[in-house]
Amino acid sequence: MELEQIKGIGPKTLNILGRLGINNTYDLLTYYPFRYNFIKRSDINTLGQNEQIIIDGTVETNAVVLYLKNHKDKMTFKLNTNNMLLNVVIFNRGFLKNKIIIGTKMTVIGKYDKKNNVVVCSELKFSLLGNMIKIEPIYHVTTGINSLQINHLINLVDVNIVDYVPRYLSLKYGFKDKDVCIREIHNPHNYEMLKQAVNRLKYEELFVFMTKINYLKTKKIQEGLTRKVEREKIEQFIDKLPFRLTTDQLKCVEEIYDDLTSNRRMNRLLQGDVGSGKTIVAFIALYINYLAGYQGALMAPTEILAKQHYRNISNLFPNVRVGLLTGKLKVKEKKEIYNGLEDGSINIVIGTHALISEGVKYKNLGLVITDEQHRFGVNQRSNLKNKAVMPDVLYMSATPIPRTYAITLFGDMDISSIKTKPVGRKEVITYLKKEQDITAVLSMMLEQLKKGHQIYVIAPLIEESDKIELENVTKLRDKMNLAFGRYFTVGMMHGKLSNQEKEEVMMKFKNNEINILISTTVIEVGVDVPNATMMVVFDSYRFGLSALHQLRGRVGRNDLQSYFIMISNTEAERLNILTKTSDGFSISEADFKLRGSGDMFGTRQSGDMQFKLANLRKDYDLVVKAKDDSLQFLKNYGIEYKYIYDDIVKDLNCLD
Ligand code: ADP
Ligand code: MG
Repeated sequence: MELEQIKGIGPKTLNILGRLGINNTYDLLTYYPFRYNFIKRSDINTLGQNEQIIIDGTVETNAVVLYLKNHKDKMTFKLNTNNMLLNVVIFNRGFLKNKIIIGTKMTVIGKYDKKNNVVVCSELKFSLLGNMIKIEPIYHVTTGINSLQINHLINLVDVNIVDYVPRYLSLKYGFKDKDVCIREIHNPHNYEMLKQAVNRLKYEELFVFMTKINYLKTKKIQEGLTRKVEREKIEQFIDKLPFRLTTDQLKCVEEIYDDLTSNRRMNRLLQGDVGSGKTIVAFIALYINYLAGYQGALMAPTEILAKQHYRNISNLFPNVRVGLLTGKLKVKEKKEIYNGLEDGSINIVIGTHALISEGVKYKNLGLVITDEQHRFGVNQRSNLKNKAVMPDVLYMSATPIPRTYAITLFGDMDISSIKTKPVGRKEVITYLKKEQDITAVLSMMLEQLKKGHQIYVIAPLIEESDKIELENVTKLRDKMNLAFGRYFTVGMMHGKLSNQEKEEVMMKFKNNEINILISTTVIEVGVDVPNATMMVVFDSYRFGLSALHQLRGRVGRNDLQSYFIMISNTEAERLNILTKTSDGFSISEADFKLRGSGDMFGTRQSGDMQFKLANLRKDYDLVVKAKDDSLQFLKNYGIEYKYIYDDIVKDLNCLD
């Protein structure tokens, strides 16, 4: 059935529907209401002038129809409701005249003109609603069409719809037929039935999505490079490290080794808190890849971090040729690196975005690692992958991904986690203080300063304007100067500074020429000032828990006791989570539950995962069900049902 075949859809309506993104009957049928009006049966005595009315009654006088110009008509009759007579008016329903006769029981819905005791009706129902409420679907509309009209058109659609939920699962969950559920969503009988219908349709969306992802995951198994690397060589290397790897680190190395040496292509996320020791694991991955004769690339989010990695890895592998490629290189230096990568003489390259710029060609890139993967957009990441036929990929992230996201958004990835930190690290002591406690905070600060330690002070997060941001930082600096300025130096870091100015400020802080650094959150990732033992965050309630946890990671970088102080007069319950745990995993989980995904993962969630009804966070239980069911389904029936999946995976190349 085509849209044009629906009665009442001409070129004009077609155009209007197009504006709503409705281009075929399926679009129309699945143009779901975005909310409902729950209309209770009215108590006529409490209604005000022109309020919505929905009321049962018995027809007291036969309907009279007045025929107007342009085929319009006006019908009137009296309705007895609880022994009170109402005058009812309705336009253009003259054809119902013969059904509205004395004694007919019915429900009228419309506006109540109290002054004249008239109901101007929008709808008549020839069954009593009784105590039930009417559930009215509300759709997103545009000029030229209203909710009622959309609903009317939808009810005229007559097409066969494919049900992607396998029969045995429908039976298991007691689902009604898909088309029944779609009808219910547009014309709810009651709340319970509506809920069941929505639930079933959400499940289907999630089931299809999870099946696509899991299907892709199995498909990938054959595609990887197979390397032959002697285990002993890696063990020897690990033995020579100045520290023992933690159990979690060893487990991650093992998982990566398995990926790299088996024929399955690695697509792995390595996650762990700041300081948990991801870098050495990544370096070992590069080493395994190198031993097998392939080139490796490690991409860092900033120049400073790239240089830091470069120095470390060059020290670890004196016999391997390592290159550094950043945007700041001179043309000649760049050329040299380009040549080395193309002819294969450079084995490992560390860099920033420059690694994925146009001119870079690799001889045999086998492994790509990105540090702090959430800082790269999807496109950049895939750009890097495209530099080789099918390199293995490892993403490092210090923002652990909540379980929900891990199994959905990154459902096509395997995950390695480092949950325990290397021994000997002191926990950062965390306090939540009120603004009126500022004196106590200042004296804690003084204590640290007197020991020769340094302090970060984070100014309130302001998104509205740079000007307010600057004012805030400046005000805070003046306050700190007032308190400590006689004996200590206060510095300022904010978004208005040029990169060079920022670097200068950072350098001074690093060299302890600045004792207190007032800053917005622009402090560079990975900047390491071990002598900073305290951070004070004003208006902490403005930050997500994960963001605060990340900020906290800047202190506690040596064996001195460090402190993290949040100042906030609200949201104590939420912020107190941070005083209780330093486990990034449970923090991100809590954050996610409280605030939703936010912009945690950039473009990936917005474009690639558009569910009409389902919501990953709110429908978490369904997500888990759908995931388990899809895995089982593919295992049992994958090949048999493959034709369905070829169809539905087509649009999923973005995940590949
Ligand atoms: P991140 O996970 O934030 O990348 P790093 O890899 O930078 O953490 O590790 C932080 C510090 O801990 C580094 O100086 C590193 O050398 C050290 N480190 C890593 N693993 C261990 C370990 N098992 N024992 C002791 N120190 C370690
Ligand atoms: Mg790191």
